[in-house]
Amino acid sequence: MMIKDRHLTDSELTDFFMKLEHKNSKIDNNLRIEAMLLQQMDPTVGWPGLINNMKIFSKGQSAEVKVNGIPVKLVLNKTRTPSLKSNTFENNVNNINPERCLLCELDKGQRGILIKDKKYIVLANPGITLPGDLTISSVKHEKQILTGHFQDMVEIATNLFHLSIYFNGALAGASSPHFHFQAGYKDKLIGEQQIQALLAGKSIGNAYLNNIISTHNCKLFSAENYLQPIHVVTTKNSNIMLQFCRFYMDKLLHISKNIKGYSNIHNFGEYINSLKGKESEGRVNILLKYYPESDEYIAAFFPKRTNRPQCYFKKGKNQIILGIAIKESLGNLITCRKKDFELLKNSSDLIEEAYKDTSITRTMLLELNKSLKDFSH
Ligand SMILES: [Zn+2]
Repeated sequence: MMIKDRHLTDSELTDFFMKLEHKNSKIDNNLRIEAMLLQQMDPTVGWPGLINNMKIFSKGQSAEVKVNGIPVKLVLNKTRTPSLKSNTFENNVNNINPERCLLCELDKGQRGILIKDKKYIVLANPGITLPGDLTISSVKHEKQILTGHFQDMVEIATNLFHLSIYFNGALAGASSPHFHFQAGYKDKLIGEQQIQALLAGKSIGNAYLNNIISTHNCKLFSAENYLQPIHVVTTKNSNIMLQFCRFYMDKLLHISKNIKGYSNIHNFGEYINSLKGKESEGRVNILLKYYPESDEYIAAFFPKRTNRPQCYFKKGKNQIILGIAIKESLGNLITCRKKDFELLKNSSDLIEEAYKDTSITRTMLLELNKSLKDFSH
């Protein structure tokens, strides 16, 4: 079955539209996705793999840990095990077929909604951080490279305004070699709420936002004393957001050339089998969302050196299976083994180190902050 044949039509979703709270609203892609999620969880016609993972997810555990006064949500979530253990981009062996993957060969019962002239399919994400999590996958197998997809990202965020759109770069937490975004309900993750609070002038621990650019139609901030370096940009103009994304990736690429000689971190720019070429983009996790009520776009960029903290490489019982991708960057730290969960629950210093190990260095950040001042629009 071709990916395009996995599309759920409005007539297949009729019964599920009726179950929605907003059933009298005009049918748009936000509503189609809601109905699709209900369809996929339906015991008769749905996706058995997702239904099973929802059961596992409901047995998960969570705890709040304060890291230098900043709350982080630590979770034990076995549905994320394949993503947590994946080394699609790190493992440069040739046994991965980069042309076919789980996003090409969809699972039995897995269906979705085609968007953007059938260029992408929106699927339920079986690795559930929060119920309703989605994967927005390119219909054809393309490399996990953001260049060429910036406009799609901004347009998808505008169109799917119930959602936050996420992107994990190669070697920054992406677990599939097939081009994809992720998405989830807006402002549900603790880090997203913290970013909104910081933008509103509230304090989170000792963290605060430093203004880098402030014009009437674009504001750019760099957070100080936060879990890790982060750049937050706000604008009411989709074109400025698009230009900024391109500008940011260009400046990040420039400083990424300094990523070399760190233990357990791939030197930047080397050949990556899953990309079938040399690494060409800075390592980054991105959040983008659109608020129609205020006509505002907000994006957060987390510049990275790697997604694997040093504790991942420890031997035997000292190893902690952890990866810092977008969900972790947004304060939702996912473990898949009870012992890792218990250890991290009582070791905020290890969490602090994990963020530090994976982010760009202070020197790199200062250089990046300086070059970001040059954004003109
Ligand atoms: Zn694929």
